[in-house]
Amino acid sequence: MSIRRSALAVGLTASLGAVACGATTTTGAVSPAPIVTETTSVASTAASTAASIAASPSPTPTAPPEFTSKITKVTRDQVKYSWRPGCPVGLNDLRMITMTYWGFDDKAHTGQLVVNASVAEKITSVFEKLYDFRYPIKRMEPVDKYKGDDYASIDADNTSAFNCRAATGSTNWSQHAYGLAVDLNPRENPYVEADGAHAHSNADDFVDRPLKKPGVINADDRVVKAFASIGWGWGGDWTGTKDYQHFSQSGR
Ligand SMILES: [Zn+2]
Repeated sequence: MSIRRSALAVGLTASLGAVACGATTTTGAVSPAPIVTETTSVASTAASTAASIAASPSPTPTAPPEFTSKITKVTRDQVKYSWRPGCPVGLNDLRMITMTYWGFDDKAHTGQLVVNASVAEKITSVFEKLYDFRYPIKRMEPVDKYKGDDYASIDADNTSAFNCRAATGSTNWSQHAYGLAVDLNPRENPYVEADGAHAHSNADDFVDRPLKKPGVINADDRVVKAFASIGWGWGGDWTGTKDYQHFSQSGR
């Protein structure tokens, strides 16, 4: 999409206000009029409305907002808790993606994801697909909103990417520490050890696979394929421990 291609507003500080799902959002309203404004006003997260008539799997008679995104550099303040000197990726090599996502409330929302600059465009294209699928996402906030606390972010069912931390159960850097991994709907897609153990009791109903529930990722489904289209592997394909929320460039 041209909007996305032209959206690298380097140096622009993302407007970090109302992005939380369930909180205020600029894209909650569904415009009844199919006003097609394919403009470059990417700073406006309130989407232009396009009646994507043929392709739209819209569950409602009115067209939801078109997917929009912008990619901006990350400021020190934006990753106050999740980045520090010594992390395996430099601050200049991170990007903030501000983009539309589909909520469990069947409405469009605006979320933010911090990723490695080298994958920002590709990851945006994946999330554009997920939006077009109307794949529901609970919330999408930088893990800094949780002071870099991975457990708290997961417990809030938050979709996130960059976090300068060790891999779970390891002293090695996680792929998240490079901004090269995404955790998607972590409550619906828990990290499950080989014996079925998992750390978050609110995920008790989401441990088994296959499982047909909103937001749940199953083997070879369209979510897995969307990430596979950019070469990213899924933690649900691991043997032994399964990390159903986890997608990464390395597959680990
Ligand atoms: Zn992960």
